[in-house]
Amino acid sequence: MPVQTVSVAGNFRVPVPANEPSRDFAPGSQEAQDVLKKISEVKSAVRDLPHVINGERIFTGETSDVVAPHEHSLVLGKLPSADAATTQSAIEASLKAQENWALTPWWERAAIFLRAGNLAAGKYRDELVATTMLGQSKTFHQAEIDAASEVADFFRYNAHLAQQIYADQPASLQGDFNSLDQRPLEGFVLAITPFNFTAIAANLPSTPALMGNTVVWKPSASSALSSDVIMRLLEEAGLPAGVINMVHGSGKDISEIAIKHKDFAGLNFTGSTDVFRSLWKSVGENIDNYRSFPRLVGETGGKNAVLAHPSADADAVRTALVRSSFEYQGQKCSASSRAYLPRSVWNKIKDDVVDTVRSFKVGDVAKHETFVGAVINEAALRRMEGAISRAKALESHTLLVGGTVRPEEGWFVDPTIFVTTDPTAFTMSEEFFGPLLTVFVYEDSEFEAILPLVDQASPYALTLSIFASDRSAISTALTALRNTAGMTYVNDKPTGALMGQVSFGGGRASGTNDKTGSRLSLQRWVSGRFIKENLSPATGWTYPYLDLSSYAP
Ligand code: NAD
Repeated sequence: MPVQTVSVAGNFRVPVPANEPSRDFAPGSQEAQDVLKKISEVKSAVRDLPHVINGERIFTGETSDVVAPHEHSLVLGKLPSADAATTQSAIEASLKAQENWALTPWWERAAIFLRAGNLAAGKYRDELVATTMLGQSKTFHQAEIDAASEVADFFRYNAHLAQQIYADQPASLQGDFNSLDQRPLEGFVLAITPFNFTAIAANLPSTPALMGNTVVWKPSASSALSSDVIMRLLEEAGLPAGVINMVHGSGKDISEIAIKHKDFAGLNFTGSTDVFRSLWKSVGENIDNYRSFPRLVGETGGKNAVLAHPSADADAVRTALVRSSFEYQGQKCSASSRAYLPRSVWNKIKDDVVDTVRSFKVGDVAKHETFVGAVINEAALRRMEGAISRAKALESHTLLVGGTVRPEEGWFVDPTIFVTTDPTAFTMSEEFFGPLLTVFVYEDSEFEAILPLVDQASPYALTLSIFASDRSAISTALTALRNTAGMTYVNDKPTGALMGQVSFGGGRASGTNDKTGSRLSLQRWVSGRFIKENLSPATGWTYPYLDLSSYAP
């Protein structure tokens, strides 16, 4: 049998990654003008946003409009919806591409994603930012840190993390040569991505692919515009046809077909907890049909808390609260939506918090003065409207600011803060995924007593902030709240994870905590095989203890 040949050999090393700097977009700056020009270009034509299967663009089934959330009469694209045959052909394309891709040396796969990182930071940068601003209603700053910097970071850091995984080899004592073969999974991986981060949409299909798997990718309809750019960028970077197959349509229908397939090898999901639970149940129902036990990775909902101690720097608490609750309209999975503040701190910052939030400009994200855009769609607006009116009806809740929705031009929800006397209220436990913050004020002497409440009020465990100057208060809270969050920030806001620094993921109802952006998350997409080669195989079967020839008791 011929030995597989590769064109080059060596112990390859990918570039050491560094976080891609974000641009400032000062009004009138060249970078702001460039992105505004790109926005005009994207707005000027309705884009077809086809499925991409085996490298072919396919436009089947019913189409729906992709619109700008902050200007919902503006149609940006037409999105097809996969029927069963289209989904099936995406699965078949993945399976067909699998053998060659799995045999492609890891450094060649890594080179494709490294190039994708440079394309995201360079040629495609403005288009990624513009489509994320228009399609997902992010401001200049929010779009840049997500769609330019974090997309590039994911591609570059993942290549580096993959190198570490392949470099990790077992010891070989004299006489043996031991090695670890990190095989891709047998079958295809299904990646289902949420609307809120272009970087997550880029990362979830790419991590399994980097590790040698082939993928069926179902993007969110609400981020289809930027997902289309990601797909084109990956193709230009050299990703072979069939390695990532993008299908649009009903997540339920597409996943039902994929999960029933005997070659379903894994799910890389980010989205809401209920959807992940339903997918996990379907996998359970089909467990007898699979060749291997599928890998299930899910990063899901959050109800993230900001907790302050009486020794906290009040100004730092105020800034963290307003930024992490209202940037990107509270639609970051890490956004804070409940706060536990001592009376002394609250008395210092309350008026300022309310005035600041009231001053936020809510509107068109392409205007420099806008701090808050629109929520993603009408369903999100109605969900926020419902939560706000439920809270207004409670005696335990006092509305401090906001409380209104304005759906006429865009799906605008005014940043809203309630203060509550009931720390067990629904506003302190349920995820709404919008610009709604509820504050519970405790007496300064009660810090330790409220820690169990912070831990138990909600089923989620994603991010948490602890503000204090008193070191013992920080230690007490870190210990009592050890399982309350997968990411705990001390004297910092609970948003803003960064590749190579703070990896993302939470436990309990927030997901499988596989830490997106870390080596752990790549490890899920390989299945190790240990190879032991004996350099001097034994030729006799007997052992010294059996040898009685010179034994004289
Ligand atoms: P979502 O669950 O509504 O949708 C996520 C994806 O699942 C989309 O592609 C959607 O089309 C698909 N989907 C919807 N219903 C489905 C079904 N029945 N079967 C299969 N697929 C289905 O979530 P979203 O609104 O896009 O995103 C917001 C949610 O994502 C929030 O709960 C947020 O906390 C969470 N999120 C978590 C993280 C994290 O890292 N923990 C990151 C981002 C978002």
